[in-house]
Amino acid sequence: MEQTVHKTSLTDIYRERLSVLQAQQRLRECQNVSGAEFPLISINGQLAIHFCSNNYLGLAIDPRMKQAALEAIENSGTSASASRLVSGTDARIIQLEESIADWKGTEAALVFNSGYQANLGIIQALTGPGDWIFADRLNHASLVDGCRLSGAKLVRYHHKDVNHLEDKLKTAPVNALKWIITDSVFSMDGTRAPLEALVDLSEKYGAMLMVDEAHANGILGDKKHSGLVEHLRLIGCVHLQTGGFGKALGSQGGYAAGSRVLIDTLINKARSFIYSTALPPSVIAANKKALEVVQSESSLNERLWQNIHLMHTGLCDILSSANLPESPASGIFPVIIGDSAKTLVVCDDLLSRGFFVKAIRPPTVPEGTARLRITLSAAHTQSQIQSLLLALKDCIATTSS
Ligand SMILES: *Cc1c(COP(=O)(O)O)cnc(C)c1O
Repeated sequence: MEQTVHKTSLTDIYRERLSVLQAQQRLRECQNVSGAEFPLISINGQLAIHFCSNNYLGLAIDPRMKQAALEAIENSGTSASASRLVSGTDARIIQLEESIADWKGTEAALVFNSGYQANLGIIQALTGPGDWIFADRLNHASLVDGCRLSGAKLVRYHHKDVNHLEDKLKTAPVNALKWIITDSVFSMDGTRAPLEALVDLSEKYGAMLMVDEAHANGILGDKKHSGLVEHLRLIGCVHLQTGGFGKALGSQGGYAAGSRVLIDTLINKARSFIYSTALPPSVIAANKKALEVVQSESSLNERLWQNIHLMHTGLCDILSSANLPESPASGIFPVIIGDSAKTLVVCDDLLSRGFFVKAIRPPTVPEGTARLRITLSAAHTQSQIQSLLLALKDCIATTSS
């Protein structure tokens, strides 16, 4: 009896903490979705069109990907069963890493279990106390967490502001080990990093440059669709590229691509690599297949970009006052509403009309910039996008009146 009372009061602390989040309109819940074939989705039994997945090319439902994964399961089972340094590396992972390095134009590459684990492990392995990291203020949480874990001095510069970055670089000791770290396409804003200027600054101040291509690989780049680094022809000017297989590449996992010495350092020092069971054969096989498809078949990429242009033109009509870029930068379209509660209302309204769009609220994005984050896929039809635009126009008008 006494013990029960004791337990209840201890967990009450967490109930109170959650209620604070609820009062701030920040409580997060896992929404129950199931069934239908992408981009259709069933939410609590209601069918909707999915506009918040990162399945940019539709590869997550591609028959070739499924086939590759199934064959690997048939041949090798469902688990790697240990970390790579403990029980050996499956030859197919080595092949995948060679494919990544070839795709990225680097000497070597290393696979991690997710993009999050990659960034955490890489930054922790390559920097430490006494080193300096310069990070865009809107970098992905995994990069921020990696910086915190490393113990290096973390300096955050205003989003895309290379002048601010240069001022900060001047304050670091000349001989200190320095890294500039940035998303290439920013995950909540869809904007692109000023990579050419970052390369110049990295050369001028002797800093290394790490670029996270999570929302650009498969989408940007004229030939191999490997990301913004390829798109701007900066291969060889960036010390480390990271990214993942969970978005455009339709699978799971993360990677680092760079020089042999950096990759060897990661193998020896990155704790998220060393102390975690390797990805299963099915995932490795799907990742390999994704790289083949992305490089050999431009039609998916072209279809995605047609959809992006259609959406951009449509949004320009609806949000005439908003600050939309002249041309779209990526498959991510933020529609900033500002207030969290209002953003949730618009989301619910859209869902009731059959469109699944997520509200992104602080602390994921800065205070006062709660937004809808719409993502497009090659799997969307043009008429699905047009009907979303019509509904969006209506919902926004209703909420602001
Ligand atoms: C999604 C994302 C990650 C994390 O990748 P996962 O494979 O989902 O863990 C890392 N960086 C950026 C910029 C991302 O958008």
